[in-house]
Amino acid sequence: MLNTTKRAPIVIIGAGLGGLAAACTLSARGHEVIVCEANDWTGGKAAEHNQDGFRFDMGPTILTLPSVLRRIIAESGLRMEDRLDLRRLDPQWRCFFDEGQSLDLVEDIALMSEELEKRKPGDGAGYEDLLRVSERLHDISRRFVFWKSVGGLRDTMNIGETFVPKTLRDVLALRMHSTLGQEIRKRITNPQAVQVFDHFTQYVGSNPLQAPAVLTGIAHMQVDEGIWYPIGGTRAVPVALRKIAKENGVVFRSNCRIKRILHDAKRVHGVETQSGETIAASAVVSNMDSVRTMYELIDRKAAPKAFRQFRRQWKSREPACSGVVLYLGLNKAYEHLAHHNFVFSRDAEEEFDAIYHQGRPAPDPTCYLAAPARTEPQTAPEGGEALYVLVHTPYLRPGQDWTEMFPGYRQVILDKLKKAGGMPDIEERIVAEHHLTPMDIHTRYSPQAGAIYGLASHGKLSGGFKPANRSDDIAGLYMAGGSAHPGPGMPMALMSGWIAADCLDTDSPAPIAPSGAASRSAAG
Ligand SMILES: Cc1cc2nc3c(=O)[nH]c(=O)nc-3n(C[C@H](O)[C@H](O)[C@H](O)COP(=O)(O)OP(=O)(O)OC[C@H]3O[C@@H](n4cnc5c(N)ncnc54)[C@H](O)[C@@H]3O)c2cc1C
Repeated sequence: MLNTTKRAPIVIIGAGLGGLAAACTLSARGHEVIVCEANDWTGGKAAEHNQDGFRFDMGPTILTLPSVLRRIIAESGLRMEDRLDLRRLDPQWRCFFDEGQSLDLVEDIALMSEELEKRKPGDGAGYEDLLRVSERLHDISRRFVFWKSVGGLRDTMNIGETFVPKTLRDVLALRMHSTLGQEIRKRITNPQAVQVFDHFTQYVGSNPLQAPAVLTGIAHMQVDEGIWYPIGGTRAVPVALRKIAKENGVVFRSNCRIKRILHDAKRVHGVETQSGETIAASAVVSNMDSVRTMYELIDRKAAPKAFRQFRRQWKSREPACSGVVLYLGLNKAYEHLAHHNFVFSRDAEEEFDAIYHQGRPAPDPTCYLAAPARTEPQTAPEGGEALYVLVHTPYLRPGQDWTEMFPGYRQVILDKLKKAGGMPDIEERIVAEHHLTPMDIHTRYSPQAGAIYGLASHGKLSGGFKPANRSDDIAGLYMAGGSAHPGPGMPMALMSGWIAADCLDTDSPAPIAPSGAASRSAAG
């Protein structure tokens, strides 16, 4: 028998990847959903910039773990391959160093280990061992952490299984006494190769020397499922998800900033927009930064326990790093670049110390470069390149004014590319230019202190955890996105949205069973 009681829709605050994944999943399962987005575009950080015939992805450029996207799209009974044209990239990264050498990170484990061995005897076996450990840690993450709401170690385990020998072996395998940086240095001794593997933490904007060993699992995720480029840019992902959500009946409201979540001590009942409009909601999924949601949208007087609990758990966690991005339209492409490239700093430890301890831009930074015309020539006028250059910087500190700091740091970046990236004439090739600073990131996407990747993954044990997707204290409140569990980066932000939606759907299934496109079984 159908339950036809009309209940208020679900409101999703923010149309970033987490918000879109939640919208697709909830609508596929028969829920009525309204997405309120502060900006006039969908996709949050996965935005696009067009200038003089060049097309740039503004935020993410590297897509890993496509299986996450596939599962979210399958919720609506659809195939990812019918909605997105994804190309696998190998070499995954081309890496350049000050001394003029380069090293390709390739998918094939035997080839990679052979190359590392040639450069430093012992590193080949070390790399294979690193990947074995990484595979184990990835498997543990899959079983205990992925696809469910987790806010700390307690949530990862079923109490009944905690003392089962297999579980204890898994706990030991987590290497809670160690960091990702230490796990790499134990096995690899060539400093250039160490720098390459350290940059797996680039997906979480954290210092490898402070990041928990469990993040070593990222290496296996990248080797196993590969690195992908969607034709149309990573921007094609939010475009595809929005289309699916709209086909499922989701209503999108742009230029609609949410000022408050309306709730009492126990449950959520709506939201209030910046313009003063009230929207009734049976539940709210916030894709806004999780810390800012709790500090700015929740009324701490109305739900003091929820607020205190959140603050106690997360107040000592710093934001992850921010960044400066140069979008350079070049009239002539550099043929020596691969699609993804790194031009590494002269000294990794000096660089991490500046960004993560001193809170100042690195004097000699690592630059990540995307040259998408390798894969999709239409991103630039013929023969040119829409070159994307990202440098990680500290999150915004008081008194840091990037309108003043930017011109000098732009020159530091260009000088680095000239010296170590094999681009001595880069300034002569620039015919179009745009940029993004930590202040722009803060204004455009509303994170904490301009942080790109939510909370820093620092701490040998706690660094692996982020705020849970379901509030324990306020019924009907869920968190999705890179600042909530399981963390930042495209696949994790997408998974976060799915988890928030799945928790919500488990807590209060849709009144009317979904029909047609929406089939839970399609998700597998
Ligand atoms: C420069 C850069 C490079 C990156 N590179 C990579 C990469 O190569 N690979 C990778 O995997 N990841 C990368 N990332 C990280 C990745 O982009 C993010 O982790 C992911 O996109 C975050 O998604 P999200 O769901 O947290 O939403 P966000 O993108 O943070 O979007 C949140 C949305 O919520 C909206 N919002 C906030 N507050 C409100 C409110 N009160 N009312 C209404 N709307 C609100 C915002 O306007 C925004 O649209 C990069 C990010 C940046 C910025």
